[in-house]
Amino acid sequence: MCGIVGYVGREACADILVDALRKLEYRGYDSAGIAVFEDDKIKTVKAKGKIDEGLAVKLDEGDTLQATCGIGHTRWATHGEPSDVNSHPIGNGRVSIVHNGIIENYRELKSFLISKGYGFESETDTETVAKLLDYYYEGDPIEAIEKALGDIEGAYALGIVFREHKNKIFAVRKDSPLIVGKGEAASYIASDVTAILEHTRDYYFLERGEIAILSEKGIRFTDIHGLEIEKELQTATWDVTAAQKGGYEHFMLKEIHEQPEAVRNTVSPRVKDGLPNFEECGLTAEKIRNYRNIYIVGCGSAMHSGMVGKYLIEDLAQTPVIVDIASEFRYRNPLVTENDLVVIISQSGETADTLEALKLSRKKGADTLAVVNVVGSSIAREADMVIYTNAGPEISVCSTKAYAVQVAFMYLFAFAVAYAHGKIDEAECKRLTAGLLAIPEKIQLCLDDMSNYQYVASKLINADSLLYIGRGLDNALSMEGSLKLKEISYIHSEAYAAGELKHGTISLIDDGMPVIVAATQSKLFDKTISNVREVKSRGAKVVIICRESVNIDKDCADYKVGLPDAEDLFLPLLSVVTMQLIAYYTAVQRGCDVDKPRNLAKSVTVE
Ligand code: GLU
Repeated sequence: MCGIVGYVGREACADILVDALRKLEYRGYDSAGIAVFEDDKIKTVKAKGKIDEGLAVKLDEGDTLQATCGIGHTRWATHGEPSDVNSHPIGNGRVSIVHNGIIENYRELKSFLISKGYGFESETDTETVAKLLDYYYEGDPIEAIEKALGDIEGAYALGIVFREHKNKIFAVRKDSPLIVGKGEAASYIASDVTAILEHTRDYYFLERGEIAILSEKGIRFTDIHGLEIEKELQTATWDVTAAQKGGYEHFMLKEIHEQPEAVRNTVSPRVKDGLPNFEECGLTAEKIRNYRNIYIVGCGSAMHSGMVGKYLIEDLAQTPVIVDIASEFRYRNPLVTENDLVVIISQSGETADTLEALKLSRKKGADTLAVVNVVGSSIAREADMVIYTNAGPEISVCSTKAYAVQVAFMYLFAFAVAYAHGKIDEAECKRLTAGLLAIPEKIQLCLDDMSNYQYVASKLINADSLLYIGRGLDNALSMEGSLKLKEISYIHSEAYAAGELKHGTISLIDDGMPVIVAATQSKLFDKTISNVREVKSRGAKVVIICRESVNIDKDCADYKVGLPDAEDLFLPLLSVVTMQLIAYYTAVQRGCDVDKPRNLAKSVTVE
């Protein structure tokens, strides 16, 4: 999830581009760069690190750039570690691009381009697009863009400059955002309107299949074949601070809304011919078949995603899975052997206990698979195999999208393990994978209307303590729901397996105590409802999360949070979104500092 900017006008553009990039640093900050038309050449300056530590320093040291047209990028690496050479803009002397997104078929494109004599400098997927544009370019930029896009699979927003088309920027997008700003005597591109608000509030939202051509004369739009199109100008009403959160009140809410895109970015690059595919890290079906046990180790939400993985893998693949908290695992001499796979999960890739758990597993000879969000992080570097979860930077301390993508990975991984062990056939594996690919749209449905979450939250704000209960996958999800609530609203809460309540914990229930029940699994539904009746008859106020289409008696639950229809197996990916939003609005209504809860830090690098 990077930030893209571009400027064409009369002023010297280097500072304008760098200032605009600073406003997009929330989208990524591991490196930054600009490419501008200087004389008859494209001049590129780029550097690893945050803008003020890398790019801005380099620009200060160099000659003053007189250019009046250029593109810029602040990167959040998905392919290739943060480094000068992997930074954008990327290209050769003829064409240079900035890219936000993931090119899913970059390996095939790279082989093709190598066979045509191209060499590659960076490890990025982006370089294949730059080279492909160069390959197709015969004088007409639109034709080159049309042909290149025809070959590309994946998500992208692209800003492109061709040396032979001085002071022009070409822009296209699919699945990653891009707007085109219209100023008095200048035009802009940007990943979001925040970046250019100080120059103009007028912008066009670029749609899929449209090309924007920005020049000193103004902005034109064409379709992919070069036919002119008319677009409606929009006006931004945001103030600059609100805009940095994309108009959301908090980063947490923004990140909750980014989950459809994040899940798509995690899952779709790992699907080939309709089946899960982890070739990128060397995790083959044969390796999977040979593992005796699978361990999943993490802290906090990452460990909770492992609990979901355990339920899924043991059920679908009939393979034993041991989930452990990293800080316990590392001190209890775990029974890991060279025949085992240890899956190590961490958003930041720097979590101290998780890193030590990884080192211990390697020492014991196990194969290790890191599932991390931050490219080039310590855990990613130490592990035998790495899967990047591609959620983009998560700024709110309370994890939402980073957890959702860990869970999404667990689904795909479970399908791969089940298929490798012959517990599901190819058709079933394809059917399940297609189901997972359709989940982002269903998550979107959960995000369309906030009123019910706000209402439910208003019923929780005065509670001193509450319980989350569920069975099976719902139990695993409840752990995360409960953690979210206590983390940001400071209301004590506990997650409990619904059937276990009567062995002690039910004594906590008294008049008016809220109990949040997840009941998404049909085969466990009646059993869960019996537990609901047990707490209800002892005075609990019950919130039930289940399919919208299920009728719930008023005497059974007080409030219902309905989920869109989906196969039982996938419903937890939806119920977690509702739990995040209930926690969010509870914290907001209690006046808590949602993005920076007390006593916490984003990346826990102490033991
Ligand atoms: N895939 C590109 C890279 O790693 C762009 C990253 C992004 O937009 O997140 O450089």
